[in-house]
Amino acid sequence: AKPLLDVRDLHVDFHTRDGVVHAVNGVSYDVRAGETLAVLGESGSGKSVTAQAIMGILDMPPGRIPQGEILFQGRDMLKMSKEERRKLRGAKIAMIFQDALSSLNPVLSVGYQLGEMFRVHQGMSRRAAKAKAIELMDRVRIPAAKERVNDYPHQFSGGMRQRIMIAMALALEPELIIADEPTTALDVTVQAQVMELLADLQREFNMGLILITHDLGVVADVADKIAVMYAGRIVETAPVKELYRSPAHPYTRGLLDSIPRLDQKGKELYAIQGLPPNMAHVPAGCAFHPRCPVAKDICTTDLPVLAGAGEERGSACHFWKETING
Ligand code: SF4
Ligand code: MG
Repeated sequence: AKPLLDVRDLHVDFHTRDGVVHAVNGVSYDVRAGETLAVLGESGSGKSVTAQAIMGILDMPPGRIPQGEILFQGRDMLKMSKEERRKLRGAKIAMIFQDALSSLNPVLSVGYQLGEMFRVHQGMSRRAAKAKAIELMDRVRIPAAKERVNDYPHQFSGGMRQRIMIAMALALEPELIIADEPTTALDVTVQAQVMELLADLQREFNMGLILITHDLGVVADVADKIAVMYAGRIVETAPVKELYRSPAHPYTRGLLDSIPRLDQKGKELYAIQGLPPNMAHVPAGCAFHPRCPVAKDICTTDLPVLAGAGEERGSACHFWKETING
């Protein structure tokens, strides 16, 4: 099947007082119907900016897309009119953000806000929209939806609010959902429940799902494939199982080694040394070299390109072969 979304060689620049920041530097990824792509990276890696470019909301501060294509069902969204893109948002592509509380209006009931999707997009009556809202709340497993439909966002727990956000995203039965750190603000048990719900609904509706996260542990069970981003580029891409079994990039290896594991309780966790780069001053060569435990001279001068590391796999490391076998 053709990809539902096909991002090709996307570049996003921000013009700042420090000069031009290349926040996204030639990112390509795709997702099919019924498939989950996890985009993994630390803050500033470009993972959210890529998603914002897809959603057409790169406006704070104004971002520019000097190069690239964002094909949705084969059509380049970057060539569509504002009106056409606006129609795609919500109806065909929906987004879920980390912070439900700031995305929901505090003075309107959740039922009203859910119903609004149907009133605005489908011209439904208030009554019919409310019935739809209850149905959606049921669908995302909010207990006693009928009784709670008139409650306000602050009356729900963090996990329940995130379910409401998911309900909102699902309302118009989109073909693609982009979830940016959907569970980061929640505690671990609730995280797992919300992630499971999202995965269930994704299968049920056969949607494409892009899960943006800094937490490799969260996506292990739900993603089909992973793109790991660092300093505005994809540094590794692989089917999730293979990536876990044998990472082909030292950064991915470091991320894997820093996940707490039950069978290693008490053992000190590995932590990748240093911090991600300031995007206005990205290190030359491989941007990861100041933090890489196996960096060599060539890494400080030559930019490694994302190259095949087996079927459906790619690594942007000069020494991926050593890494994958190490
Ligand atoms: Fe490390 Fe060099 Fe590979 Fe970059 S290219 S990840 S610095 S070994
Ligand atoms: Mg982010």
